[in-house]
Amino acid sequence: MKYQSTRALSDRKTGTQAIVAGLAAGGGLYVPEQVPALPEGFLKSLLPLDYPRRAAAVLSLWLPELADSLEDMCRRAYARFDDPAVAPVRSLGDHLHVLELWHGPTLAFKDMALQLMPRLMTASSRLVGETRTILILVATSGDTGKAALEGFAGVPGVRICVFYPQGGVSQAQRLQMVTQEGDNTRVVAVQGNFDDAQTGVKAIFSDPACAAALDREGIVLSSANSINLGRLVPQIAYYISAYLDMVSQGAVPMGQPIDICVPTGNFGNILAAHYAQLMGLPVGRLVCASNQNNVLSDFIQTGVYDKNRPFHLSTSPSMDILISSNLERLLFELAGRDAGQVNAWMDQLRQTGRYALTGQALAALQGLMWGGWASEEEVSAQIKKCFQEQHYLCDPHTAVAIKVARDYQAAHKTGRPLLVASTASPYKFGRAVLGALESAQDLDDFACCHRLAALSGQQVPPAIAALPDKPVRHSTVCRKEDMWAALGPMAQGT
Ligand SMILES: *Cc1c(COP(=O)(O)O)cnc(C)c1O
Repeated sequence: MKYQSTRALSDRKTGTQAIVAGLAAGGGLYVPEQVPALPEGFLKSLLPLDYPRRAAAVLSLWLPELADSLEDMCRRAYARFDDPAVAPVRSLGDHLHVLELWHGPTLAFKDMALQLMPRLMTASSRLVGETRTILILVATSGDTGKAALEGFAGVPGVRICVFYPQGGVSQAQRLQMVTQEGDNTRVVAVQGNFDDAQTGVKAIFSDPACAAALDREGIVLSSANSINLGRLVPQIAYYISAYLDMVSQGAVPMGQPIDICVPTGNFGNILAAHYAQLMGLPVGRLVCASNQNNVLSDFIQTGVYDKNRPFHLSTSPSMDILISSNLERLLFELAGRDAGQVNAWMDQLRQTGRYALTGQALAALQGLMWGGWASEEEVSAQIKKCFQEQHYLCDPHTAVAIKVARDYQAAHKTGRPLLVASTASPYKFGRAVLGALESAQDLDDFACCHRLAALSGQQVPPAIAALPDKPVRHSTVCRKEDMWAALGPMAQGT
């Protein structure tokens, strides 16, 4: 099993090498030379297994070098989840089924990958002979930072430093990060916005002087971004497991197709569903759901990707994105695996902010996907509808997807069961969820969560309820020019 860069056919790597490398030279992303097919009888054999064993079986097809240790890694990674099914599927009626991906320690779907990825990364670096300490740098607009901290805290041989925009994250998100435990963690507030933090991290990554200084200390940089293969592969497993759960629940006969709808930002989650489909999972259409930053649904409808448009801050912030990095992996498939064509589109995107698919590539995109989007009012209305009709609380990201899924059903009447990826706990976005159910109130985020719990008869998840009482461990603030210096002890050998 080999991987190649989307921008250069000659750059070939094993999966473990690709995980250690992160990004390919020239900015390309690693994709499989050939997507591994589900072996004959594979789905049936997975039916009676629990989630960690199913995940290990799927991952071993993508990372055969790690096959012997995958089951142990998956078992440990998902042991902290608060539902024994790890990623349970629930029915909402109307042929809609929800795949809950937020039962991990930070209550968002990033945990599905980031609880496992540190284990994949340390095993991979051992295999490729990397002996230096790995320093993970993350710029975050909220969810990724905390999930990466939880995943990498306490992992031997790895350190992690997260930069977040001061004043640019929610009260709960900030507290989640600054109370992070673990001697190998550091959290820094940057005086600037998310782009400043991201630019600063990229500057450190691309500065040879930084690399040399770190190397003298026995340290090498790496990233936990969603373009890393180690983030992508764990996400393929839950679509296969969810299909099996739907078969067990009698929602679909084995072998018959389902459609899948994903609330999309950086395109990693929906791309994993596409890879599951390419492996042979019976999937009809992929439905790509956007919030009012609807660059992707426009792209799917017209073939024109155009980021020259206003940027909206929404109640589904993890989807407030105008450049979806992982889309490049799909473009590579749509272009018939032509790295030259991918380079041309990405050059146009860099220079003009837009590119256009035509002909076969556009037809292939539209055959594969359907795109739609939801306004802020529609998101609120959907949260209310789900709660009133099904007594089901969903977060704003999930509500975007449910709204678009219903639009898709109304437009296509496929009769196929539709699986909707639910990406965050409603308690992670308690203010927006409560605001959809009751008229606006002057409660803080935590009070909103307690009110939601009272309304729904649930309990506030401990990861949220405990936050106000946890000691703050990280209070470093830096100017956006000083991020390298702010690494402090993280950049020094022991
Ligand atoms: C990251 C995230 C998304 C977007 O997922 P992508 O893989 O970036 O498309 C959607 N919802 C939530 C809650 C997220 O944290």
